[in-house]
Amino acid sequence: MKSEPNFNLSHMNHRNTLTLPFLILLPQILLAQSEIGNINKKAVLNSVDKHRQELISISRNIWELAETAMNEFQSAKVLADYAELHGFKILRGVAGIPTAFIAEYGAGKPIIGVLGEYDALPGLSQKAQPFKEVLKEGAPGHGCGHNLLGTAGLGAAVAIKELIVSGKISGTIRYYGTPAEETIVGKVLLAQAGLFDDLSVCLDWHPDEENKANMQSTQAAAEFAISFHGKSSHAAVDPWNGRSALDAAELFTIGMNFLREHVKPSVRMHYVFTKAGDVPNVVPQEASVLLWIRDAKQSGVLEVMDRMKEIASGAALMAGVDYEIALNKGVYELLVNETGAKVLQENMKLIGPITYSSEELDFAYKVMKAYEMEDKGINGAIKPLESTAPYPDGGSTDVGDVSHIVPVIALRATIAPFEAPWHSWAIVASSGMSIGQKGMLFAAKTLGITMVDLFENKKLLQEIQNEFIKRKGKEEWKAMLPDSQPALR
Ligand SMILES: [Zn+2]
Repeated sequence: MKSEPNFNLSHMNHRNTLTLPFLILLPQILLAQSEIGNINKKAVLNSVDKHRQELISISRNIWELAETAMNEFQSAKVLADYAELHGFKILRGVAGIPTAFIAEYGAGKPIIGVLGEYDALPGLSQKAQPFKEVLKEGAPGHGCGHNLLGTAGLGAAVAIKELIVSGKISGTIRYYGTPAEETIVGKVLLAQAGLFDDLSVCLDWHPDEENKANMQSTQAAAEFAISFHGKSSHAAVDPWNGRSALDAAELFTIGMNFLREHVKPSVRMHYVFTKAGDVPNVVPQEASVLLWIRDAKQSGVLEVMDRMKEIASGAALMAGVDYEIALNKGVYELLVNETGAKVLQENMKLIGPITYSSEELDFAYKVMKAYEMEDKGINGAIKPLESTAPYPDGGSTDVGDVSHIVPVIALRATIAPFEAPWHSWAIVASSGMSIGQKGMLFAAKTLGITMVDLFENKKLLQEIQNEFIKRKGKEEWKAMLPDSQPALR
């Protein structure tokens, strides 16, 4: 997955030879920005620059709040209030989720959407400094940079709103405040409520270690809770009267592990025991397993699911117990849109690479040193458009479901040192300071000027939609959710 950066900025004192490209590229960046001929794109860039301080303070505010999935009450409010201040129509608590909202401006077609996330990860509290130190004991932290993610999309939406107000473009801009990405369920619930159905195109971005237009899919995934119900008895006095639910759970996981030999290489299965009895001298009456199945496509997940059901049934039969299988949640794989990615790519080039100060490079150097990893600087270059790999890397996202309903164009932008471990204190630290904030502003600008293309160019919009229809094929999207699951909300 990782490749060498083609624009490697390293700490000046440690890699003197690599400071030269930085100096050479600087005039080119200024040149590139001044060459933007489209006045609406210029207006978007000016708007993001004008709101720069506000966007930085919003991202920092959400970083400090660091609220986990479905608890993002204040973070959602910060973003929704900002959109409201800018005249957007706000729908709070959409899809029955208190921390979800929609902010919309304009009327008619096209309707361009942009996704925002703002949930943090448990236990990752960290100060915005290049060595490990907890900000608030036991608190969550933004180890995936979602404080930046949610803010950049809104920055782009505000810039487009200003163009609609001035009559330069017409249509609707709609920002989605989507909670609970880390538990891969927020957008699935919004999708189930039909909230993406009328979009022309949806834009998305995610913090990364590279600037690129996303050409890679993600894994479809589903989470199942498998429960076994037996009979308790004294484990030594009358074990023959007992039926162990734990025996069934163990036999089930043995079966799943044997299944690994007979699934496609793209399949991943992982589980934990969530209940396994209390004490050894009681035959366990209840046992349960939480299982994830992933594959490159949702249809692959369903195939493995069918085998899993048979294995659960066999395990229960062997142990003489009853069993239940519940689907907790699931997501589809991401459908790539190459036509859209190419537009993003050209727009990234218009903006030019992100450059870093010696203080920022020093920050990156110290982070990597603290991790005992090689310092490879911060990669602010624009990565050339990749081809789509046959199988996605590990990992799943609820953006996948949106991409089966409307075309999704996805950006990645650098917010952290190159090759720094993700979902870690290093990402929390970078997300709370200027390295992350630069990536956030770069994303806001790229998304904003890409939206200009989508509003101005009907033919392009049609081509993006044509590719979406072709990639989706005949498959019908259906949310992988239980009929009622109040615990998720
Ligand atoms: Zn993330």
